[in-house]
Amino acid sequence: MACPAASARIDFSASLPSIAIPPIAQLIACSQARLQQKISAALAEKDFDTLFQSFPAGSRDRCHLLSYLRPLSSGWLSAIPAYTRSDKRKCLNNYAYRLATALTLGITFPLASLASSCTCGTAIDALRDHFFLCSRATAERVFKHNTLLDVFKAILAEVGITAVTEVPLRSLDITPPNAQPNSQRMDLFFPIDGEGVLCDVTVVHPCRPENSTAHHTQVNRSHARRPGGIATAGAERDKDRKYGASC
Ligand SMILES: [Zn+2]
Repeated sequence: MACPAASARIDFSASLPSIAIPPIAQLIACSQARLQQKISAALAEKDFDTLFQSFPAGSRDRCHLLSYLRPLSSGWLSAIPAYTRSDKRKCLNNYAYRLATALTLGITFPLASLASSCTCGTAIDALRDHFFLCSRATAERVFKHNTLLDVFKAILAEVGITAVTEVPLRSLDITPPNAQPNSQRMDLFFPIDGEGVLCDVTVVHPCRPENSTAHHTQVNRSHARRPGGIATAGAERDKDRKYGASC
């Protein structure tokens, strides 16, 4: 008669072919380094694959899942909140925390009372992607951009570096790349070891609400096939192309 424990091990091993699970006697005889971690990772990967495959190819949902799989996408959950008397911007209040969690999980915003349509006339999608993308409803993107800028400046100040924001490129003897008003300034300028450093902040969003236009379809299809972080990497390349020659 087969031993139930041995039989369970064989069944479990068959369900996780990527993990070599030792026989029971070997498990009892000596400890297996990081075996639990390897099993947990394989189980999580299996769950992810099942969820990923349950969504249509090229869908916004696949795009969202891959986006939140990228390194540091959950960094906000493990960051230690800095809370000083004058600066509370590195802390999330309960409401902001709920919104961030909803965005991460891809669920509708809890307790949020938002308009059903945008000033551009478009109906707002359930997951609010439109607010992160619309060129008419810039308040959210501009607010996020400016808040990030303030936080970077505050972090630099905490380590004794004074940064200047919105510095005109011409004041640094740098010719702007074009005549666009937004191209005349750089978000941050600060000195490190006598060298001037220029930084620019960009807010990007990887998903499109639905496939209502050819562009939306193309973005979702492309981002649903490739590892997360593609949108951010593309935005960084654009900045390099724009300012690389002079900065
Ligand atoms: Zn809009």
